[in-house]
Amino acid sequence: MDLDKVIRKINSKNVETVGLQFPEGLKTQAVKIADAIESETDSTVIISGDPCFGACDVSDWKMKGAVDLIIHYGHTPLPLKYEIPTVFIEAFSNIDLKKDLEKCLDELKKYSRIGLVTTTQHLHLLNETKDFLEDNGKEVILGSSPSTRKGQVLGCNFSSIKDLDVEIILFIGSGNFHPLGIKLFSNVPVLALDPYNSEIREMDEYADRILRIRFARITKARSAKKWGILVSTKEGQYRMTLAKEIKKILEDAKMQAYIILVDNVSPDVLLPYLELDAFVVSACPRIAIDDSQMYKKPLLTPQELEIVLNKREWENYQLDEILFHERYR
Ligand code: SF4
Repeated sequence: MDLDKVIRKINSKNVETVGLQFPEGLKTQAVKIADAIESETDSTVIISGDPCFGACDVSDWKMKGAVDLIIHYGHTPLPLKYEIPTVFIEAFSNIDLKKDLEKCLDELKKYSRIGLVTTTQHLHLLNETKDFLEDNGKEVILGSSPSTRKGQVLGCNFSSIKDLDVEIILFIGSGNFHPLGIKLFSNVPVLALDPYNSEIREMDEYADRILRIRFARITKARSAKKWGILVSTKEGQYRMTLAKEIKKILEDAKMQAYIILVDNVSPDVLLPYLELDAFVVSACPRIAIDDSQMYKKPLLTPQELEIVLNKREWENYQLDEILFHERYR
C-alpha cells in the first residue's frame, strides 16, 4: 500500500486533513492505514465510506472543503481534473503467472500475432508475459490510448485495442466484462486468462449469451414511451451533455424523457420512478450490461437506444465507452 510514500507526501505538504478512498476489495485496510498516517503525521484522516468502483469516482467533489489531499487506492489516474490534489496508489496483484502461461500456449498454438491486454492490478505482469510469449515464437502487440496505460483496458474504455492488427487477444484478469468488451470491440477471438483461479476460456459463447440478453432488452424497450435518462454525479461518469442530447432525441421522437441525477445507480434508487417504461444510462457503461437482471425495467446504453430508435443497425452493436480525454461536459 506504499505507506512510506503516502506519509512522505503528507508530511511534505503539511496536510491538515487527508481523505482516504479505497475500492471495495481494499476497504478492510482502511483503519490500519488511517492509524499509521495519524501516528506518523500531524494529519487527521477522513475515510470515504461510499462505494468506489474506479478512478472515475474520486471523491474530490464530496470531500471538497473537508480535506486538503486525497489518497486514492487501487486505480490508475484518468485524464480528469480533480478539485483536490489526489495521489493515486495503485495496488498490484501478487501472482505468479508462469504455469498459466504455459497452459495458454496450447490454446494459442495456431496464432502468431497476439494482442496482450489487462486491467490495472496486473499491468506489472505485461512485460514478463510479453517476454514469455516472444520466447515461444509469438509476436506480441500492446496497444495504447490517451485514456489508459499501454496494454490497459477499463470496463468503459477499450481504445487501447481499437484497430489492433492481431489474430487473437490474450486478456489477463478476472471476470467477464473486460474480455466481453474486448471481444465486442475487436471482433477477433479473445482468450481470457484468470490469474486468480488459473481458468483459461474463450469468450465467443459468453459474448453470444450477453448479446442475446441485450437483444431481448432492446426489444422490450421498443414499446417504451416514457424514459428516464440516468446521469451520475461521479466526476468521470458525469455526461450531462450526452444526457441532454438523448432527451432531445427522445422528445423529437414524440416521447417523454426525464433526466435523473444520482450518485450511485441502483435498483432502489429507481424504485420511485417505476412509472417510466425504460432507462438510458449515461453513467458507468457496466451498469446496463452487468446488472441488468437486477432491474425491473430495461436499462439501455446510449448505443442500444440508437438501435431502439432505428438509428443504428443491430449488426453494428457496440458497447458504450467513456472517452475520458475528450470529456463529455
Ligand atoms: S465508469 Fe465504470 S468501468 Fe469506467 S472506470 Fe468508472 S467504474 Fe470503471
